[in-house]
Amino acid sequence: MKTIAILGSTGSIGTQTLDVVRANPGRLRVCALSAGTNIDLLEKQIREFKPSLAAVSREEDAAVLRGRTADLSVRIVSGMDGLIEVAGAPESEMLVTAIVGMIGIRPTIAAIEAGKDIALANKETLVTAGHIIMPLAARKNVKILPVDSEHSAIFQSLNGERENRIARIWLTASGGPFRGRKREDLEYVRVEDALNHPNWKMGSKITIDSATLVNKGLEVMEASHLFGVPQDQVRVIVQPQSVIHSMVEYEDGAVIAQLGTPDMKLPIQYALFWPERLPLAGERLDFASLGRITFEEPDTETFRGLAMAREAFAAGGSMPTVFNAANEAAVALFLAGRIRFLEIYEIIGECMSSIPAVPSPTVEEILETEARVRAQIGERYREA
Ligand code: NDP
Repeated sequence: MKTIAILGSTGSIGTQTLDVVRANPGRLRVCALSAGTNIDLLEKQIREFKPSLAAVSREEDAAVLRGRTADLSVRIVSGMDGLIEVAGAPESEMLVTAIVGMIGIRPTIAAIEAGKDIALANKETLVTAGHIIMPLAARKNVKILPVDSEHSAIFQSLNGERENRIARIWLTASGGPFRGRKREDLEYVRVEDALNHPNWKMGSKITIDSATLVNKGLEVMEASHLFGVPQDQVRVIVQPQSVIHSMVEYEDGAVIAQLGTPDMKLPIQYALFWPERLPLAGERLDFASLGRITFEEPDTETFRGLAMAREAFAAGGSMPTVFNAANEAAVALFLAGRIRFLEIYEIIGECMSSIPAVPSPTVEEILETEARVRAQIGERYREA
C-alpha cells in the first residue's frame, strides 16, 4: 500500500488521480489533499478518501470546511503554510503536484526536502526552478516521475536505455484548437473557442497554453530539466491525432515511442506505480480504424509561444520565470475577457524585453521576479 498526498486534488489531474486511487483499492491510500477554492468538491473528497489533512487557499474557506467536517478526524489548514504541510505530510511517500502555476514551487521543494517522491504534473515549477529542484532531488535521492503525457512517454521510451545517449527527443504536439489558422484569423477568437481543445479535456490554463503553443514551450524546458538534454536536442513535431505521446531517438537512428489513446489516467497511474504496469480500463488504440498518423512542423510564426519559450530558456537565469509569470498573468486576463488572444504574446514579449534576467536565481529571487512581472502587468491592466 502506497500513501500519497495530492496538491490540487479538485482540478483535472487531481480528480483523475483520485479516479486511479478509486480503481486500485488496497494499493493506494490518500493522507492529504489540497484545493484552491472548491470546498464543496474537497469536502466530498475528504468524506470519500478520509485524509487526515486538507488545505485550502483562504482561511475563511478553511473555517467553513472545519465546521462542515467536524464529524471527521481531518485537520484543515490554509494558505502557503497549508500547502507546505500537505506536501510534507509525515505519512506520505509520494506527492502528486497537480496544482497549477508557480505557486507549486515552495511546496514541491518542501516535499523533496522531506524525502517524498514526486509525481510531477505542475510543469511551471520545473520551468522556473528546475535548476534548484533537479539537483536537490538527486541529493535527497528522491524520484521525480513525470505525469505530463509527453514526458511520461519519453520516460517510458527510456526504459532499459539509461546507458545509451539520446540523440534527440521528439516532443509531439496536437497543434491545439487553432491549428492551421493564421495570425489574422486569431485576432478576435473567443475564450470558449480557445477552451475547445480537440483531443484533451484539461484545466483552463493549460488549455489556453495549448492554443498559444506556450504549453509546448514549457514542455521543452520541462524535458530539458527532467532528462538532462539541451533544448536544441528537443524537437517539436505536430501529430494532430495525439496518438504518439512522444519519442526518443538514439544515436543509431532507432526511434522509440509510446502510443495510446489520449487518457491522462495512463501517465498518472504509471507515475504512481512505476516501475509496475497495472491494468487500466478504457479505450484502446485500434490502428485499422485510426488509418493514419500524420506529422507536420509547428507554425511558430503564428503561434509564437514556442519560439518565445525557447528564447527565454536560452537567455537562462530567471528569464524562464519572466516568461512563465507573464504567461500566467496574461492567460488569467484572457480568461477574464480583459485582453484579446494575441495580446498574450504581446504581454510576454514586453516583460521579456523590459525585465532583466538574474543568473542562477534562488527561490526568493524567482518569487521576486514573479512579483515584479505581476506588478508590471497589473499596473498596465488595472484600468483595462
Ligand atoms: P486545474 O485548473 O484543473 O486544477 C488546478 C488545481 O490547483 C485545482 O485543484 C485548484 O483548486 C488548485 N489551485 C489553483 N490555484 C490555486 C491556488 N492559488 N492555491 C491553491 N490551489 C490552487 O489544472 P490542471 O489539472 O489542468 O493542471 C494542473 C497542472 O498539471 C498544471 O501545471 C498543468 O500544466 C499540468 N498538466 C495538466 C494536464 C491535464 O490534462 N489537465 C496534462 C499535463 C500537465 P480549486 O479548483 O479548488 O480552486
